[in-house]
Amino acid sequence: MFGESRGLEHERVVYFRDHATGVVGIIAIHSTALGPAMGGLRLRRYATPADACADVLDLARAMSLKNAAAGLDLGGGKAVLVDDGGWAHPEARAERMRAVGRVVEELGGRYTTAPDVGTTVEDMRVIATQTRWVAGLPVDAGGRGDPSPVTARTVFGAIASAVRRRLDRPDLAGVRIGVQGVGHVGASLVGRLVAAGADVTVTDTDAERVRAVADAHGVRAVEPDGFVARDLDVLAPCAVGGAITRANAASLRCAVVAGAANNPLEADDVAELLADREILYVPDFLANCGGIIHVAGEAQDLGEDEVERLVLDAVERTDALLAEALATGRVPLHLALEHAEARIARAASAGRQRTAV
Ligand code: NAD
Repeated sequence: MFGESRGLEHERVVYFRDHATGVVGIIAIHSTALGPAMGGLRLRRYATPADACADVLDLARAMSLKNAAAGLDLGGGKAVLVDDGGWAHPEARAERMRAVGRVVEELGGRYTTAPDVGTTVEDMRVIATQTRWVAGLPVDAGGRGDPSPVTARTVFGAIASAVRRRLDRPDLAGVRIGVQGVGHVGASLVGRLVAAGADVTVTDTDAERVRAVADAHGVRAVEPDGFVARDLDVLAPCAVGGAITRANAASLRCAVVAGAANNPLEADDVAELLADREILYVPDFLANCGGIIHVAGEAQDLGEDEVERLVLDAVERTDALLAEALATGRVPLHLALEHAEARIARAASAGRQRTAV
């Protein structure tokens, strides 16, 4: 079951089944070296339990890297819930979310949960009735609301840097950008891109949603099939992970890949296939870290100025990393992993020294 994931250095993996409500889920804590783990709660269908397990392990690792890269003193963790069709009814959903809250509470603060694909700030309100280890709450519940617009900000920053560095264009005017998935982050990103004068094409498996976003922003909507192989300057994967695979990497016809989706590459080595083709891939955990900065700001009660500084620093660090990668011929993902892993390793070593004293 663990064989398919990208590394098994996780500190703790908790599988849970609540017999009363039928909820089945997994919480993975990848690392607490930098601080307590934080990461979203995902609700989706999985073909097999092994798929759910591989997803949560990959996502938890990605959160460690993202929190480290974002300059936060937080470790990485994530939770997935299996969508078995039993979440549709609002009362059943609330019962199930309360059950999830109790499991999070049992972890005693080692893991703080937050919204992710398939869950909302309203779900967090329900979870908060059972545990205080939850963030991303609605504004009227003392939270700071949906993190997606802040995620779209750092994705936008990553796209702007990559376009400047790789295409030598001063801004996004006329740059052809394809946004795959126009949900919470994708739709907000489209607004920013259009305001910057980009030539935007969108797609989504949800036909109604893509039509609404295309109409609202006056952009072109196309079918999802074959989207990654479109002739574009920038491909922005903003749906679920795994859009770019070993099999389809050779079909990409863009110069930059930068988006919101976590783990958009099927495996890390796909970054090398893209680099061989001179496609500049901005690591997901750099591009999309705005959301976790927003959520961490709420959980740690950071002031607006502090959150703003963290967002601007993150965008600048991404730009510096792309500059370094292009100057040295290194694959950006390799560099970003090195930087993030070094920060986690330094914290782990400092922690060991503290424990030994
Ligand atoms: P969302 O569920 O609101 O939107 C995802 C959209 O992708 C949906 O509209 C869905 O219909 C569409 N989609 C699914 N499969 C598709 C496919 N094959 N082709 C085209 N469209 C498809 O999710 P979101 O909150 O916008 O997040 C998008 C991605 O960004 C996710 O991978 C998420 O993990 C990541 N992310 C989100 C945040 C955040 O703040 N929301 C932060 C960091 C990372």
